[in-house]
Amino acid sequence: MFLLGIESTAHTFGVGIVDEKLNILANVNSTYIPPKGKGIHPREAAIHHSENAAEVINEALKLANVRMKDLSAIAIALGPGLGPCLRTGATIARFLSLQFQLSLVPVNHAVAHLEIARYACNEEDPLIVYIAGGNTIITTFVEGRYRIFGETQDIALGNAVDYFGRMIGVEYPELINVEKLAMEGKQLLDLPLVVKGQDVSYSGLITSALKLIKEGYRVEDVALSFIEYAYSMLCETIERAIAYTNKKSILLTGGTSRSIILKEKLEKLAQGQNVSFKVVPREYAGDNGGMIALTGMLAFMHKVTIDPIRSYVKPMWRLDQVDIPWR
Ligand code: MG
Repeated sequence: MFLLGIESTAHTFGVGIVDEKLNILANVNSTYIPPKGKGIHPREAAIHHSENAAEVINEALKLANVRMKDLSAIAIALGPGLGPCLRTGATIARFLSLQFQLSLVPVNHAVAHLEIARYACNEEDPLIVYIAGGNTIITTFVEGRYRIFGETQDIALGNAVDYFGRMIGVEYPELINVEKLAMEGKQLLDLPLVVKGQDVSYSGLITSALKLIKEGYRVEDVALSFIEYAYSMLCETIERAIAYTNKKSILLTGGTSRSIILKEKLEKLAQGQNVSFKVVPREYAGDNGGMIALTGMLAFMHKVTIDPIRSYVKPMWRLDQVDIPWR
């Protein structure tokens, strides 16, 4: 039994193919890179997806050595994400489902980031830190669903670092380049540390950091301070989440898991809390089709399907709204 999964929630159009033993046979991704100094424009990203979809699908099929008629189902990430990007992927998935008479399986993109990390790191029941351009979530599984033990109240951490990077003129990938600058910083400047209960907030931090740049402080020092405050806020809530949930491991997933400094901080945090720490492998860190296929297969084996006519996209679909019958 084979399933093909489609990812198109933001900048990446990705296709994964899995078999019933959850082997990922193909994971082919094409990512839209915005013009220098710009963020993702949803319409431009959607155009990229429609232009590259056929090639990515064909390449994945070839790589997996699977034909369309060998498939049992199509999985599609219906949200959360950018409307035009979601609709492009959903339209392709509905078409394939109807044309080849395949079941359609709805997948929540955030759940897929969690499941691919558990699968790739062989972790049964970790506290998961999901950090990406669009999400900043601390979560673990409790009674049928992933429950949120902390999140951002405004901008996501990945997007916060990218935006700050663009404003100070660093090039893509902003995360890596802002951290390079931060490593050359010498002085920790005063910035707002905004933790509200278990939640964090980054919008005021960005404004304050950019103000320091305008006031003439060294860009390396501001980068260092921005990164230190941003990550420390998160670590504070992770530490409390560990104490509260009593989990024995921390698992880092999402595109921002490529961060060098955040990994160092979480490693130390885990040591201090006497829990293990693992990071999702690089190929599954950013958005990818493989994670949608894997999660789609888990759902499909538990009879989760949707009628194509009812398969609306859900740009604001929250992680904790999704039943997880496979756990
Ligand atoms: Mg993502």
